[in-house]
Amino acid sequence: MITIRPIPAFTDNYIWYLQQDREHWVVDPGDAKPVIQSLGDARLSGILLTHHHFDHTGGVKALKAKYDCEVYGPGSIEGVTTPLTDGDRFSLMGRDWTVLAVPGHTLDHIALVLDGQDGRHLFCGDTLFAGGCGRLFEGTPEQMHDSLSRLASLPRDTKVYCAHEYTLANLAFAKAAEPRNPALDERIEEARAARAKDHPTLPSTIGEELQTNPFLRTQSAEIRSQSAAQGANPEGSAVEIFATLRHWKDTF
Ligand SMILES: [Zn+2]
Repeated sequence: MITIRPIPAFTDNYIWYLQQDREHWVVDPGDAKPVIQSLGDARLSGILLTHHHFDHTGGVKALKAKYDCEVYGPGSIEGVTTPLTDGDRFSLMGRDWTVLAVPGHTLDHIALVLDGQDGRHLFCGDTLFAGGCGRLFEGTPEQMHDSLSRLASLPRDTKVYCAHEYTLANLAFAKAAEPRNPALDERIEEARAARAKDHPTLPSTIGEELQTNPFLRTQSAEIRSQSAAQGANPEGSAVEIFATLRHWKDTF
């Protein structure tokens, strides 16, 4: 069985650490130091990358130099040994993985789906967050909306491993966007309790996100009326509502 745990980095990043027997992989190592500390005497087998931002790739050079390990990720990133593109499938740690292109936060962004013995696990970088989504640095609202829709169509019990602990701030925005969603109140309580104990709020599940993440809920009547107060046409397309929400969140 593959175990998955977060290695905290910088102020709010998580580097996901996957281990099975003598195989050790990390996802999005923005910093080499905490990875080396977590590995102890073990040797890093490889690195998986979701997109080019420095807080996800800053540790690649040092880790590659120290462990001479493989690097899977978008081909645009320096140091990648196995370039990945949409629809690619590969085997790692004895399990099948699938690559989904999810442009929006960046144009090179990919998400990785691990078909584990205990269900699916989604490593989605800065595209889908617990209760939110990434900022649009390079892509259009339409691209990001399409990307999130792809992720939202994964089975509901898929576990979601995003790359930042932004959950409480995201849920505060979600509450403003959809004040009368009861599932949201429950989730806020759970997230507060986890953070009070300094526990991560992750992974979440696609099911939880569908119930509480405003960026996946553009059909909600309440979100549409709240978006109208921000200038959207309440009868507008899902992309239009999404764009309004994203813009509103940028200054929330
Ligand atoms: Zn990023």
